[in-house]
Amino acid sequence: MNKKIEQAVNNQINAEIYSAYLYLAMAAYLEDLSLTGFSNWMKVQYQEEMAHAMKFYDFVYERGGKVKMQAIDEPQNDYKSVLEVFEKTLEHEKQVTASINSLYELAVKEKDYALESFLKWFIDEQVEEEASAQELIDKLKLAGQEGPGLFMLDKDLNARQFVSSQAEE
Ligand code: MG
Repeated sequence: MNKKIEQAVNNQINAEIYSAYLYLAMAAYLEDLSLTGFSNWMKVQYQEEMAHAMKFYDFVYERGGKVKMQAIDEPQNDYKSVLEVFEKTLEHEKQVTASINSLYELAVKEKDYALESFLKWFIDEQVEEEASAQELIDKLKLAGQEGPGLFMLDKDLNARQFVSSQAEE
């Protein structure tokens, strides 16, 4: 594994763990409001991000590289509203998409075909991530951000369960 690629993939491991950390902070904020469904949704999101980090981790070792853990930034812990949480989620996922895309560009530039192929799953995954955050923003705006509408949405989100990508494939 070339050093430039190794560094970039290690940075992506850090970004995925930061995502997990951010979503756990959001889960805690929602937990605090007794929105257990929304909090459940975020905890599943946290698990997904950790699974993404582990996919990159395993990839580094499969390619004979070395994983190096770096410091994780403190995420935002307080929010103005449930809507803000999901607007920040969408904003964050767009940044993740940009970083996956630049990793893909590096793979092309360095002619690392294995990394290129590996990243295709993540490119598809980012389409899903942005769509599901956008869907929740739309539903929050539709159903209302308080009262029965919010309560109903919260109930719906209780159903989300973590499915490992190994099981998906
Ligand atoms: Mg991710």
